[in-house]
Amino acid sequence: MKNLDQRNQIIEYSLKLNSTNLSPLRSGNISLRGIEDDIEGYLITPSGKKYETLKPEDIVFMGLNKEEEKNSTNKPSSEWRFHRDIYTNKKEAHAIVHAHSPHATAVSSHGKPIPPFHYMIALAGGDDIKCAEYATFGTDELSKNVIKALENRSACLMSNHGQVAFGKNLDDAFELAQEIENICHQYTIALKLGQPKILSFEEMKKVLDKTKNYKKR
Ligand code: 13P
Ligand code: ZN
Repeated sequence: MKNLDQRNQIIEYSLKLNSTNLSPLRSGNISLRGIEDDIEGYLITPSGKKYETLKPEDIVFMGLNKEEEKNSTNKPSSEWRFHRDIYTNKKEAHAIVHAHSPHATAVSSHGKPIPPFHYMIALAGGDDIKCAEYATFGTDELSKNVIKALENRSACLMSNHGQVAFGKNLDDAFELAQEIENICHQYTIALKLGQPKILSFEEMKKVLDKTKNYKKR
């Protein structure tokens, strides 16, 4: 089978979506940039299948210039549009994790960016974490909103829905999605105590300079 290693890797991380509670049951989706028959594209989880049942042949290859094939038995994730658009817009994206993680989803329902109440906000690439405006799941409009919220960022919330993170490989993208969930958990607790103190623009600039090399160690 073509791209068997990548297919197995996607299954391994899909199972982790459940085992780490990052995205329960069939929610969320995962993809990896890849090439099949000289066509540039990505391998993506199928739509609506429980992760525990996934087999390598269930993972769908989609070309970057291709729409979903009508009548195909192997349906790609309903969110293939934003996966495709992230790969097209962000050359540095090689893997994407979309999750309905509990705290990120709760915070996303406020439809607002997360301000720098903690310096780790910098992990998403800037001095806040944006929240993509709401649109129905699986639509071009949702994809447009996600791409806008990912401007200069490698993760964002999706209003009334969840979060999405990308990275240079699946391990990197998954870890970032876990970090976003941790940050959202901390933010929910902080909000219960009142309005948290927010770090200044200058401080976040210092942090962003320092964290550039942090993960290289
Ligand atoms: P899929 O099963 O189609 O990937 O849908 C899950 C999801 O999270 C939609 O936003
Ligand atoms: Zn979703």
